[in-house]
Amino acid sequence: MRFDLITLFPRMAEGYLQESMLGQATKKGLLEIGVHDLRDWSQNKHKTADDRPFGGGAGMLLSPEPLFHSIEEIATPGAEVIYLCPDGEQLNTPLVKELAQKEHLVLVSGHYEGIDQRVRDALVTREVSIGDYVLTNGTLPACVLIDCVARYVPGVLGEEKSLTQDSFHDTFLGFPQFTRPAEYRGMKVPEVLLSGDHAKIAAWRREQSYLKTKERRPDLLENSDTEGHQ
Ligand code: SAM
Repeated sequence: MRFDLITLFPRMAEGYLQESMLGQATKKGLLEIGVHDLRDWSQNKHKTADDRPFGGGAGMLLSPEPLFHSIEEIATPGAEVIYLCPDGEQLNTPLVKELAQKEHLVLVSGHYEGIDQRVRDALVTREVSIGDYVLTNGTLPACVLIDCVARYVPGVLGEEKSLTQDSFHDTFLGFPQFTRPAEYRGMKVPEVLLSGDHAKIAAWRREQSYLKTKERRPDLLENSDTEGHQ
């Protein structure tokens, strides 16, 4: 799967994307990730990529020209061109799974007040928000999107099973996890996890997932089939 990120701040993303599991997956050839400096498509001698908004008001806006040129050069036919923005559809697991089916995602990071509306109208195919709050620029949201989509690319996670244990995979939140030692500062690991009885362990985990979801996110249970979790 290929990701291309267009940003004014490539170094913010490069460190993150080269580390840990994403870095390993890239080295193995499971992912291709390109990070591009929007200023490379600026046609003025100061390499600026922004301007004042028509109509006045605070802040600056990313100009259409460098965004049009960069997206048109980078996006392959059929690529999903995603603008990360607070007024987009909310990123969640169903959307992550859907995006993981694509071959090529081009991610556009805004800055200042955002980007010229004509880019959104003409080239962006999807607008995605990572939550109801506002960040200074879209580089971090783009890295968040790449990270969670990449987890669904086969081979990126060492063990595929770990995906299905995670919060939200099947609507429920994750269950509590413990590692050695079995007792630490007087706090004991639940007996069932030491029993070696896989059926009992699976039942305990399902119950814990259900109880945590009921307590913290009852909204998730409203539209789901909770049979077997109670
Ligand atoms: N004026 C914009 C608005 O009111 O919707 C906010 C612009 S924000 C300060 C600058 C950039 O950060 C945006 O263009 C977007 O790329 C990114 N950004 C900020 N918050 C975001 C969020 N919650 N999700 C995704 N991207 C976000």
